[in-house]
Amino acid sequence: MSFENLNLIEPILRALKTEGYTTPTPIQEQAIPYILQHRDLLGCAQTGTGKTAAFAIPILQLLFLDKQKHKEQKQIKALILTPTRELAIQISESFTAYGKNTGLKNLVIFGGVSQNPQVDALRRGVDILIATPGRLLDLMNQRYVHIDQIKMLILDEADRMLDMGFVNDVKKIIAKVPANRQTLFFSATMPNEIQHLADSILQKPAKVEV
Ligand code: AMP
Repeated sequence: MSFENLNLIEPILRALKTEGYTTPTPIQEQAIPYILQHRDLLGCAQTGTGKTAAFAIPILQLLFLDKQKHKEQKQIKALILTPTRELAIQISESFTAYGKNTGLKNLVIFGGVSQNPQVDALRRGVDILIATPGRLLDLMNQRYVHIDQIKMLILDEADRMLDMGFVNDVKKIIAKVPANRQTLFFSATMPNEIQHLADSILQKPAKVEV
């Protein structure tokens, strides 16, 4: 199995080659085809399995193909929620690397730092927003972020987000995104509380476990 077998477009294959990736990891091999088919996904996977690329690569491809049809639209199209600043930064770096030939812009926002540079970047327009829940909600409440047009919602490390006490923030954010979106839900563990949250936000999800 190689990335060429996954129906990926040339700008993305070229970026993966630059990264030195030749073979998809098991989660990538399983998840990428479902995501490209616009399916919701429930992924049970730890950090280190390549799960970031498993969602970043198909998101970039779907948004790139969409952009060719609809040209310049400045609103946020994909929103990734993740528990920590470190994870958020890593995810942003992955989108930048795999998306370097797509022209798609990503932005990372997190708390504990001045919001001004984040607000300025939001004003310039981003396609993909990676955020920790607290800062996102804060900027939403100040009307600096609008997520009413997103097409894709991704919850990364959902179990850790709940452990860190973000459950109400996450629920408030989810209440503001369109119902007819594609949702991808990743968690290392699936306790009841996580399963309930997944059931409440996913529609007929494909299930992937590694
Ligand atoms: P993650 O599980 O998303 O935190 O990724 C773990 C590490 O694996 C990251 O450093 C990635 O750059 C790397 N990685 C992800 N997918 C591949 C792949 N298909 N081939 C080689 N390295 C990869």
